[in-house]
Amino acid sequence: MALRVFNSLSRQLELFEPIHEGRVGIYVCGPTVHNDAHLGHGKTYVNFDTVVRYLRYLGYKVLHVQNITDVGHLLDTGEDRILKGAKRERLNPWVLVEYYERRFFRDMDTLNVTRPDITPHATCHIPEQIELIKTLIEKGYAYEVNGSVYFSVRKWPEYGKLSGRKVDELIEGARVEVLPEKRDPADFALWKRAEPEHIMQWPSPWGMGFPGWHIECSAMSTKYLGQPFDIHGGGMENKFPHHECEIAQSEAATGKPFAKYWLHNGMLMIRGEEMHKSLGNFITLEQAFQQYAPMTIRFFILGSHYRSPLDVTDEALTAAAKGVERLYGTMRRVRAQVEEAASGPVSETVAGLVADAEARFREAMDDDFNTANALAVLFDLNREVNKMVHEGAPVSRESWQQVDALYGRLVGDVLGLITPETYQAQTAGLTEDLLRLLVETRAELRQAKQWALADRIRDRLGALGVALEDRPDGTTWRIRPPEAAED
Ligand SMILES: [Zn+2]
Repeated sequence: MALRVFNSLSRQLELFEPIHEGRVGIYVCGPTVHNDAHLGHGKTYVNFDTVVRYLRYLGYKVLHVQNITDVGHLLDTGEDRILKGAKRERLNPWVLVEYYERRFFRDMDTLNVTRPDITPHATCHIPEQIELIKTLIEKGYAYEVNGSVYFSVRKWPEYGKLSGRKVDELIEGARVEVLPEKRDPADFALWKRAEPEHIMQWPSPWGMGFPGWHIECSAMSTKYLGQPFDIHGGGMENKFPHHECEIAQSEAATGKPFAKYWLHNGMLMIRGEEMHKSLGNFITLEQAFQQYAPMTIRFFILGSHYRSPLDVTDEALTAAAKGVERLYGTMRRVRAQVEEAASGPVSETVAGLVADAEARFREAMDDDFNTANALAVLFDLNREVNKMVHEGAPVSRESWQQVDALYGRLVGDVLGLITPETYQAQTAGLTEDLLRLLVETRAELRQAKQWALADRIRDRLGALGVALEDRPDGTTWRIRPPEAAED
Protein backbone atom coordinates (compact mmCIF):
# COMPACT_ATOMS: atom_id res chain seq x y z
CA MET A 1 0.00 0.00 0.00
CA ALA A 2 1.12 3.53 -0.62
CA LEU A 3 0.34 6.71 1.22
CA ARG A 4 -3.01 8.29 0.45
CA VAL A 5 -3.99 11.72 1.73
CA PHE A 6 -7.30 13.51 1.81
CA ASN A 7 -6.87 16.59 -0.33
CA SER A 8 -9.26 19.37 0.74
CA LEU A 9 -8.89 20.89 -2.74
CA SER A 10 -10.27 17.84 -4.59
CA ARG A 11 -12.31 16.69 -1.55
CA GLN A 12 -11.08 13.13 -1.97
CA LEU A 13 -8.38 10.68 -0.99
CA GLU A 14 -5.49 10.88 -3.40
CA LEU A 15 -2.34 8.87 -3.87
CA PHE A 16 0.51 10.93 -2.47
CA GLU A 17 3.07 11.67 -5.17
CA PRO A 18 5.49 14.48 -4.40
CA ILE A 19 6.39 16.95 -7.13
CA HIS A 20 10.09 16.05 -6.89
CA GLU A 21 10.87 12.40 -6.29
CA GLY A 22 12.03 11.65 -2.77
CA ARG A 23 11.50 15.19 -1.49
CA VAL A 24 8.52 16.85 0.19
CA GLY A 25 7.99 20.54 0.81
CA ILE A 26 5.36 21.29 3.43
CA TYR A 27 4.09 24.63 4.66
CA VAL A 28 1.95 24.85 7.78
CA CYS A 29 0.32 28.10 8.92
CA GLY A 30 1.96 29.04 12.20
CA PRO A 31 0.56 30.87 15.22
CA THR A 32 -0.20 34.55 15.63
CA VAL A 33 1.97 35.29 18.64
CA HIS A 34 -0.26 37.61 20.66
CA ASN A 35 -1.22 35.20 23.43
CA ASP A 36 -0.30 31.86 24.96
CA ALA A 37 -0.80 28.73 22.89
CA HIS A 38 -3.93 26.77 23.82
CA LEU A 39 -5.04 23.16 23.45
CA GLY A 40 -6.25 23.85 19.89
CA HIS A 41 -2.71 24.84 18.90
CA GLY A 42 -1.53 21.67 20.59
CA LYS A 43 -3.80 19.60 18.36
CA THR A 44 -2.86 21.39 15.14
CA TYR A 45 0.89 21.16 15.63
CA VAL A 46 0.91 17.62 17.03
CA ASN A 47 -1.17 16.60 13.99
CA PHE A 48 1.20 18.16 11.47
CA ASP A 49 4.31 17.11 13.39
CA THR A 50 3.08 13.53 13.04
CA VAL A 51 2.51 14.03 9.31
CA VAL A 52 6.09 15.29 8.92
CA ARG A 53 7.46 12.51 11.13
CA TYR A 54 5.68 9.84 9.09
CA LEU A 55 6.89 11.29 5.78
CA ARG A 56 10.44 11.19 7.17
CA TYR A 57 9.92 7.62 8.37
CA LEU A 58 8.90 6.73 4.79
CA GLY A 59 12.28 8.03 3.66
CA TYR A 60 11.29 11.39 2.19
CA LYS A 61 13.63 14.33 2.62
CA VAL A 62 11.15 16.79 4.11
CA LEU A 63 11.50 20.56 4.23
CA HIS A 64 9.02 21.83 6.82
CA VAL A 65 8.30 25.54 6.82
CA GLN A 66 6.02 27.08 9.42
CA ASN A 67 5.61 30.81 9.77
CA ILE A 68 5.22 33.08 12.74
CA THR A 69 2.55 35.75 12.28
CA ASP A 70 3.86 38.76 14.12
CA VAL A 71 1.97 41.48 12.26
CA GLY A 72 -1.20 42.09 10.27
CA HIS A 73 -3.60 39.47 11.63
CA LEU A 74 -6.71 41.51 12.33
CA LEU A 75 -9.79 40.47 14.27
CA ASP A 76 -13.21 40.51 12.59
CA THR A 77 -13.69 43.91 14.21
CA GLY A 78 -10.69 45.22 12.27
CA GLU A 79 -8.67 45.42 15.46
CA ASP A 80 -5.04 44.28 15.25
CA ARG A 81 -4.41 41.19 17.40
CA ILE A 82 -0.81 42.15 18.16
CA LEU A 83 -1.63 45.75 19.11
CA LYS A 84 -4.53 44.55 21.22
CA GLY A 85 -2.20 42.17 23.07
CA ALA A 86 0.40 44.91 23.48
CA LYS A 87 -2.17 47.23 25.03
CA ARG A 88 -3.51 44.50 27.30
CA GLU A 89 -0.07 43.72 28.66
CA ARG A 90 1.37 47.22 28.38
CA LEU A 91 4.22 45.93 26.26
CA ASN A 92 5.90 47.22 23.16
CA PRO A 93 4.41 45.05 20.35
CA TRP A 94 7.90 43.88 19.34
CA VAL A 95 8.49 42.67 22.88
CA LEU A 96 5.07 41.01 22.98
CA VAL A 97 5.62 38.93 19.82
CA GLU A 98 9.09 37.87 20.93
CA TYR A 99 7.75 36.88 24.34
CA TYR A 100 4.86 34.78 23.00
CA GLU A 101 6.94 33.18 20.28
CA ARG A 102 9.38 31.88 22.91
CA ARG A 103 6.50 30.55 24.99
CA PHE A 104 4.94 28.95 21.92
CA PHE A 105 8.08 26.96 21.19
CA ARG A 106 8.53 26.11 24.86
CA ASP A 107 5.04 24.52 24.84
CA MET A 108 5.66 22.78 21.51
CA ASP A 109 8.96 21.35 22.80
CA THR A 110 7.07 20.04 25.82
CA LEU A 111 4.64 18.26 23.46
CA ASN A 112 7.65 16.82 21.64
CA VAL A 113 6.71 18.67 18.45
CA THR A 114 9.76 18.79 16.17
CA ARG A 115 10.71 22.36 15.35
CA PRO A 116 10.14 23.39 11.73
CA ASP A 117 13.22 23.53 9.49
CA ILE A 118 12.49 27.17 8.65
CA THR A 119 10.40 29.57 10.74
CA PRO A 120 9.92 32.70 8.64
CA HIS A 121 8.48 35.78 10.34
CA ALA A 122 5.99 38.03 8.57
CA THR A 123 7.84 41.16 9.76
CA CYS A 124 11.10 39.86 8.23
CA HIS A 125 9.52 39.42 4.79
CA ILE A 126 8.02 42.83 4.08
CA PRO A 127 9.95 43.34 0.77
CA GLU A 128 8.78 39.93 -0.55
CA GLN A 129 5.17 40.78 0.32
CA ILE A 130 5.43 44.23 -1.33
CA GLU A 131 6.84 42.62 -4.50
CA LEU A 132 3.95 40.17 -4.67
CA ILE A 133 1.42 42.97 -4.18
CA LYS A 134 3.09 45.04 -6.93
CA THR A 135 2.79 42.08 -9.33
CA LEU A 136 -0.89 41.67 -8.46
CA ILE A 137 -1.53 45.39 -9.18
CA GLU A 138 0.41 45.19 -12.47
CA LYS A 139 -1.62 42.17 -13.57
CA GLY A 140 -4.89 43.91 -12.72
CA TYR A 141 -5.88 41.68 -9.78
CA ALA A 142 -5.41 44.34 -7.12
CA TYR A 143 -5.99 48.06 -6.71
CA GLU A 144 -4.77 50.79 -4.42
CA VAL A 145 -7.08 53.19 -2.61
CA ASN A 146 -6.12 55.71 0.12
CA GLY A 147 -2.80 53.98 0.79
CA SER A 148 -4.34 50.51 1.16
CA VAL A 149 -4.29 47.76 -1.48
CA TYR A 150 -7.10 45.26 -2.01
CA PHE A 151 -7.37 42.04 -3.98
CA SER A 152 -10.25 42.18 -6.41
CA VAL A 153 -12.00 38.90 -5.74
CA ARG A 154 -14.27 39.02 -8.78
CA LYS A 155 -11.25 39.27 -11.12
CA TRP A 156 -10.23 35.78 -9.98
CA PRO A 157 -13.01 33.41 -11.08
CA GLU A 158 -11.54 30.46 -9.17
CA TYR A 159 -11.99 32.21 -5.83
CA GLY A 160 -13.89 29.77 -3.64
CA LYS A 161 -12.47 26.59 -5.15
CA LEU A 162 -10.97 25.40 -1.85
CA SER A 163 -13.80 26.23 0.53
CA GLY A 164 -16.60 25.76 -2.00
CA ARG A 165 -18.02 29.18 -1.12
CA LYS A 166 -19.51 31.57 -3.64
CA VAL A 167 -18.60 35.23 -3.49
CA ASP A 168 -22.22 36.37 -3.33
CA GLU A 169 -22.99 34.04 -0.43
CA LEU A 170 -20.05 35.51 1.42
CA ILE A 171 -21.42 39.00 1.18
CA GLU A 172 -24.86 37.90 2.31
CA GLY A 173 -23.33 35.97 5.18
CA ALA A 174 -21.39 39.14 6.12
CA ARG A 175 -18.15 37.17 6.44
CA VAL A 176 -16.40 40.18 4.96
CA GLU A 177 -15.11 43.43 6.32
CA VAL A 178 -17.35 46.20 5.05
CA LEU A 179 -15.28 49.25 4.21
CA PRO A 180 -16.61 52.02 1.99
CA GLU A 181 -13.26 52.34 0.21
CA LYS A 182 -13.38 48.78 -1.13
CA ARG A 183 -14.74 48.42 -4.67
CA ASP A 184 -16.52 45.24 -3.64
CA PRO A 185 -17.31 44.13 -0.08
CA ALA A 186 -15.77 40.71 -0.82
CA ASP A 187 -12.33 42.19 -1.66
CA PHE A 188 -9.64 41.56 0.92
CA ALA A 189 -6.69 43.66 2.05
CA LEU A 190 -3.18 42.98 0.80
CA TRP A 191 -1.70 46.12 2.36
CA LYS A 192 -3.18 48.41 4.98
CA ARG A 193 -2.47 52.08 5.43
CA ALA A 194 -1.06 52.62 8.92
CA GLU A 195 -2.32 55.29 11.26
CA PRO A 196 0.48 57.21 12.98
CA GLU A 197 -0.08 55.36 16.29
CA HIS A 198 0.49 52.00 14.60
CA ILE A 199 3.95 51.03 15.82
CA MET A 200 4.54 48.26 13.26
CA GLN A 201 4.66 50.05 9.92
CA TRP A 202 6.89 50.10 6.87
CA PRO A 203 7.40 52.33 3.81
CA SER A 204 5.85 51.01 0.60
CA PRO A 205 4.99 52.34 -2.86
CA TRP A 206 1.56 53.16 -1.36
CA GLY A 207 2.84 54.99 1.73
CA MET A 208 3.46 53.85 5.28
CA GLY A 209 1.57 50.68 6.15
CA PHE A 210 1.64 47.01 7.02
CA PRO A 211 0.74 43.79 5.18
CA GLY A 212 -2.62 42.07 5.38
CA TRP A 213 -2.53 38.65 7.03
CA HIS A 214 -3.01 36.35 4.02
CA ILE A 215 -0.22 37.77 1.88
CA GLU A 216 2.56 36.68 4.25
CA CYS A 217 1.83 32.98 3.75
CA SER A 218 1.78 33.34 -0.05
CA ALA A 219 5.10 35.20 -0.02
CA MET A 220 6.92 33.04 2.52
CA SER A 221 5.74 29.56 1.47
CA THR A 222 6.84 29.99 -2.12
CA LYS A 223 10.06 31.80 -1.18
CA TYR A 224 11.29 28.70 0.66
CA LEU A 225 9.46 25.89 -1.13
CA GLY A 226 8.98 27.16 -4.71
CA GLN A 227 5.68 27.12 -6.56
CA PRO A 228 3.93 24.78 -6.70
CA PHE A 229 4.97 22.97 -3.53
CA ASP A 230 3.67 19.68 -2.16
CA ILE A 231 1.60 20.13 1.00
CA HIS A 232 -0.11 23.13 2.56
CA GLY A 233 -1.43 22.42 6.03
CA GLY A 234 -3.46 24.32 8.57
CA GLY A 235 -6.49 24.29 10.79
CA MET A 236 -9.94 23.75 9.27
CA GLU A 237 -10.92 27.20 10.59
CA ASN A 238 -8.32 28.75 8.27
CA LYS A 239 -9.67 27.15 5.11
CA PHE A 240 -11.77 30.24 4.60
CA PRO A 241 -10.90 33.02 4.16
CA HIS A 242 -7.18 32.61 4.86
CA HIS A 243 -6.28 29.70 2.60
CA GLU A 244 -8.72 30.70 -0.11
CA CYS A 245 -7.02 34.11 -0.23
CA GLU A 246 -3.54 32.54 -0.27
CA ILE A 247 -4.47 30.48 -3.35
CA ALA A 248 -5.99 33.46 -5.14
CA GLN A 249 -2.97 35.71 -4.53
CA SER A 250 -0.32 33.15 -5.45
CA GLU A 251 -2.03 31.70 -8.50
CA ALA A 252 -3.12 35.09 -9.84
CA ALA A 253 0.40 36.47 -9.48
CA THR A 254 2.24 33.60 -11.18
CA GLY A 255 -0.34 31.76 -13.25
CA LYS A 256 0.96 28.55 -11.66
CA PRO A 257 -0.79 26.24 -9.19
CA PHE A 258 0.05 27.07 -5.57
CA ALA A 259 0.10 23.84 -3.52
CA LYS A 260 -0.63 20.28 -4.67
CA TYR A 261 -2.25 18.86 -1.51
CA TRP A 262 -4.24 20.77 1.11
CA LEU A 263 -4.47 19.13 4.52
CA HIS A 264 -6.79 20.53 7.17
CA ASN A 265 -7.03 19.34 10.73
CA GLY A 266 -10.29 19.30 12.68
CA MET A 267 -11.07 21.66 15.50
CA LEU A 268 -10.61 20.98 19.16
CA MET A 269 -13.76 21.20 21.27
CA ILE A 270 -14.15 21.47 25.02
CA ARG A 271 -16.96 19.23 26.25
CA GLY A 272 -18.78 19.61 22.95
CA GLU A 273 -18.33 23.36 22.59
CA GLU A 274 -15.87 25.44 20.62
CA MET A 275 -13.14 26.90 22.78
CA HIS A 276 -13.66 30.62 23.35
CA LYS A 277 -12.48 33.09 25.93
CA SER A 278 -16.08 34.32 26.13
CA LEU A 279 -17.36 30.83 27.05
CA GLY A 280 -14.80 30.60 29.84
CA ASN A 281 -13.56 27.26 28.50
CA PHE A 282 -10.27 28.50 27.11
CA ILE A 283 -7.40 26.21 28.19
CA THR A 284 -3.80 27.17 27.53
CA LEU A 285 -1.24 24.43 27.12
CA GLU A 286 0.57 25.69 30.20
CA GLN A 287 -2.63 25.14 32.24
CA ALA A 288 -3.22 21.74 30.65
CA PHE A 289 0.31 20.58 31.52
CA GLN A 290 -0.36 21.28 35.19
CA GLN A 291 -3.13 18.70 35.14
CA TYR A 292 -1.99 16.15 32.58
CA ALA A 293 1.41 14.89 31.49
CA PRO A 294 2.35 16.35 28.10
CA MET A 295 2.59 12.86 26.58
CA THR A 296 -0.91 12.09 27.83
CA ILE A 297 -2.12 15.12 25.88
CA ARG A 298 -0.17 14.09 22.79
CA PHE A 299 -1.48 10.52 23.04
CA PHE A 300 -5.02 11.86 23.46
CA ILE A 301 -4.66 14.01 20.31
CA LEU A 302 -3.29 11.06 18.31
CA GLY A 303 -6.18 8.90 19.50
CA SER A 304 -8.46 10.44 16.90
CA HIS A 305 -7.98 11.13 13.21
CA TYR A 306 -6.42 14.53 12.49
CA ARG A 307 -9.36 15.65 10.34
CA SER A 308 -11.96 14.83 13.01
CA PRO A 309 -12.95 17.31 15.65
CA LEU A 310 -11.54 16.33 19.03
CA ASP A 311 -13.65 16.71 22.15
CA VAL A 312 -11.74 17.36 25.35
CA THR A 313 -13.26 15.93 28.53
CA ASP A 314 -11.64 14.94 31.82
CA GLU A 315 -12.82 11.36 31.29
CA ALA A 316 -11.14 11.18 27.85
CA LEU A 317 -7.89 12.59 29.21
CA THR A 318 -7.90 10.24 32.19
CA ALA A 319 -8.42 7.34 29.79
CA ALA A 320 -5.52 8.65 27.68
CA ALA A 321 -3.28 8.78 30.76
CA LYS A 322 -4.05 5.13 31.41
CA GLY A 323 -3.54 4.24 27.74
CA VAL A 324 -0.15 5.85 27.46
CA GLU A 325 0.95 4.23 30.72
CA ARG A 326 -0.09 0.81 29.43
CA LEU A 327 1.96 1.43 26.29
CA TYR A 328 4.99 2.59 28.28
CA GLY A 329 4.64 -0.25 30.79
CA THR A 330 5.06 -2.83 28.03
CA MET A 331 7.92 -0.88 26.47
CA ARG A 332 9.73 -0.88 29.82
CA ARG A 333 9.14 -4.61 30.22
CA VAL A 334 10.76 -5.09 26.84
CA ARG A 335 13.76 -3.00 27.96
CA ALA A 336 14.06 -5.16 31.06
CA GLN A 337 14.01 -8.30 28.89
CA VAL A 338 16.78 -6.84 26.73
CA GLU A 339 18.86 -6.50 29.91
CA GLU A 340 18.08 -9.93 31.31
CA ALA A 341 17.64 -12.32 28.39
CA ALA A 342 20.49 -14.53 27.19
CA SER A 343 22.08 -13.89 23.84
CA GLY A 344 20.92 -15.99 20.91
CA PRO A 345 19.55 -15.86 17.39
CA VAL A 346 16.42 -13.85 16.60
CA SER A 347 13.44 -16.14 16.80
CA GLU A 348 11.23 -16.49 13.76
CA THR A 349 8.14 -15.84 15.84
CA VAL A 350 9.47 -12.51 17.06
CA ALA A 351 10.75 -11.50 13.62
CA GLY A 352 7.28 -12.32 12.25
CA LEU A 353 5.55 -10.39 15.02
CA VAL A 354 7.71 -7.33 14.39
CA ALA A 355 7.27 -7.42 10.62
CA ASP A 356 3.52 -7.92 10.91
CA ALA A 357 3.02 -5.12 13.43
CA GLU A 358 5.08 -2.69 11.38
CA ALA A 359 3.22 -3.56 8.18
CA ARG A 360 -0.15 -3.05 9.88
CA PHE A 361 1.02 0.20 11.47
CA ARG A 362 2.09 1.46 8.05
CA GLU A 363 -1.18 0.43 6.53
CA ALA A 364 -3.01 2.56 9.11
CA MET A 365 -0.75 5.55 8.61
CA ASP A 366 -0.88 5.19 4.81
CA ASP A 367 -4.62 5.67 5.12
CA ASP A 368 -4.43 9.47 5.46
CA PHE A 369 -2.32 9.32 8.64
CA ASN A 370 -4.83 7.33 10.66
CA THR A 371 -3.09 7.55 14.03
CA ALA A 372 -6.10 6.11 15.87
CA ASN A 373 -5.77 2.84 13.96
CA ALA A 374 -1.99 2.96 14.27
CA LEU A 375 -2.37 3.10 18.06
CA ALA A 376 -4.76 0.14 17.93
CA VAL A 377 -2.05 -1.83 16.12
CA LEU A 378 0.38 -0.94 18.89
CA PHE A 379 -2.02 -2.20 21.55
CA ASP A 380 -2.38 -5.49 19.66
CA LEU A 381 1.41 -5.70 19.67
CA ASN A 382 1.42 -4.90 23.39
CA ARG A 383 -0.87 -7.84 24.05
CA GLU A 384 1.43 -10.24 22.20
CA VAL A 385 4.51 -8.86 23.91
CA ASN A 386 2.96 -9.05 27.39
CA LYS A 387 1.97 -12.65 26.70
CA MET A 388 5.56 -13.49 25.78
CA VAL A 389 6.83 -11.84 28.97
CA HIS A 390 4.28 -13.53 31.25
CA GLU A 391 4.72 -16.94 29.71
CA GLY A 392 8.46 -16.59 30.19
CA ALA A 393 8.97 -17.61 26.59
CA PRO A 394 12.62 -18.41 25.83
CA VAL A 395 13.27 -15.31 23.75
CA SER A 396 16.81 -14.16 23.07
CA ARG A 397 18.20 -10.75 23.87
CA GLU A 398 18.57 -10.09 20.13
CA SER A 399 14.87 -10.82 19.63
CA TRP A 400 13.88 -8.43 22.41
CA GLN A 401 16.17 -5.82 20.88
CA GLN A 402 14.15 -6.05 17.68
CA VAL A 403 10.94 -5.46 19.59
CA ASP A 404 12.52 -2.55 21.45
CA ALA A 405 13.72 -1.02 18.19
CA LEU A 406 10.23 -1.41 16.70
CA TYR A 407 8.70 0.58 19.58
CA GLY A 408 11.45 3.15 19.05
CA ARG A 409 10.54 3.57 15.38
CA LEU A 410 6.75 3.56 15.67
CA VAL A 411 6.04 5.07 19.10
CA GLY A 412 9.12 7.29 19.12
CA ASP A 413 10.08 8.38 15.60
CA VAL A 414 6.60 8.43 14.05
CA LEU A 415 4.19 9.22 16.88
CA GLY A 416 6.64 11.32 18.90
CA LEU A 417 5.53 9.71 22.15
CA ILE A 418 8.98 8.79 23.49
CA THR A 419 10.78 11.41 25.55
CA PRO A 420 13.82 11.08 27.81
CA GLU A 421 11.40 10.46 30.70
CA THR A 422 9.60 7.52 29.08
CA TYR A 423 12.04 4.96 30.38
CA GLN A 424 13.01 6.91 33.48
CA ALA A 425 9.57 6.69 35.03
CA GLN A 426 10.42 3.17 36.13
CA THR A 427 13.43 4.41 38.08
CA ALA A 428 11.58 7.33 39.65
CA GLY A 429 11.70 6.65 43.38
CA LEU A 430 14.11 3.78 42.86
CA THR A 431 17.06 5.56 44.50
CA GLU A 432 14.95 6.13 47.59
CA ASP A 433 13.82 2.49 47.66
CA LEU A 434 17.38 1.20 47.26
CA LEU A 435 18.64 3.44 50.06
CA ARG A 436 15.88 2.26 52.35
CA LEU A 437 16.79 -1.35 51.53
CA LEU A 438 20.45 -0.73 52.37
CA VAL A 439 19.63 1.06 55.61
CA GLU A 440 17.29 -1.75 56.66
CA THR A 441 19.84 -4.43 55.78
CA ARG A 442 22.46 -2.54 57.81
CA ALA A 443 20.09 -2.35 60.79
CA GLU A 444 19.64 -6.13 60.63
CA LEU A 445 23.40 -6.60 60.45
CA ARG A 446 23.85 -4.43 63.55
CA GLN A 447 21.24 -6.42 65.40
CA ALA A 448 23.19 -9.56 64.49
CA LYS A 449 26.30 -7.74 65.80
CA GLN A 450 27.92 -7.86 62.37
CA TRP A 451 29.57 -4.52 63.10
CA ALA A 452 32.27 -4.70 60.45
CA LEU A 453 29.81 -5.26 57.60
CA ALA A 454 27.43 -2.59 58.93
CA ASP A 455 30.27 -0.07 59.13
CA ARG A 456 31.38 -0.95 55.63
CA ILE A 457 27.94 -0.11 54.25
CA ARG A 458 27.99 3.22 56.12
CA ASP A 459 31.50 4.07 54.84
CA ARG A 460 30.80 3.09 51.25
CA LEU A 461 27.58 5.14 51.22
CA GLY A 462 29.54 8.02 52.77
CA ALA A 463 32.03 7.82 49.90
CA LEU A 464 29.05 8.04 47.47
CA GLY A 465 27.86 11.20 49.22
CA VAL A 466 25.11 9.62 51.34
CA ALA A 467 25.55 10.43 55.04
CA LEU A 468 23.90 8.05 57.51
CA GLU A 469 23.01 9.15 61.00
CA ASP A 470 22.17 6.58 63.67
CA ARG A 471 19.57 7.87 66.11
CA PRO A 472 17.75 6.13 68.92
CA ASP A 473 14.62 5.87 66.74
CA GLY A 474 16.46 4.54 63.69
CA THR A 475 18.81 5.60 60.98
CA THR A 476 18.25 8.59 58.72
CA TRP A 477 20.14 9.52 55.59
CA ARG A 478 21.00 12.74 53.91
CA ILE A 479 22.33 13.10 50.38
CA ARG A 480 25.10 15.67 50.57
CA PRO A 481 25.50 18.12 47.66
CA PRO A 482 28.40 17.17 45.35
CA GLU A 483 30.77 19.89 46.61
CA ALA A 484 30.31 18.69 50.21
CA ALA A 485 30.78 15.08 49.13
CA GLU A 486 34.28 15.83 47.89
CA ASP A 487 35.85 16.64 51.24
ZN1 LIG B 1 -1.17 31.02 6.63
